[in-house]
Amino acid sequence: MKSVPDTEENVEICRHFCGPCPTFQSNELRKEEPKLLFCSRGVSKKPNEDIDDMGCNCPQCEVFEKYELEGGWFCIHGTEGRQ
Ligand code: SF4
Ligand code: SF4
Repeated sequence: MKSVPDTEENVEICRHFCGPCPTFQSNELRKEEPKLLFCSRGVSKKPNEDIDDMGCNCPQCEVFEKYELEGGWFCIHGTEGRQ
């Protein structure tokens, strides 16, 4: 895994994958920091135990492929221990 830069371009890509993700939508993750780009910025401030896992779109995302990410669910688990 490579580290993902927090750029406007990557946020825009993320918006197309995290944005429609059922986990993102049903848990209203847009209302909590860091809102998007969890693979760069880390976990959602919404507590882990309060997030219902409804699936993850990260494996389809261009950022995921470009930076050779693994696992997904970065809003819940971040990237700690996976690098
Ligand atoms: S990191 Fe994965 S599970 Fe979390 S909102 Fe984005 S696509 Fe969904
Ligand atoms: S890998 Fe997941 S968190 Fe990272 S930009 Fe893509 S959809 Fe967003």
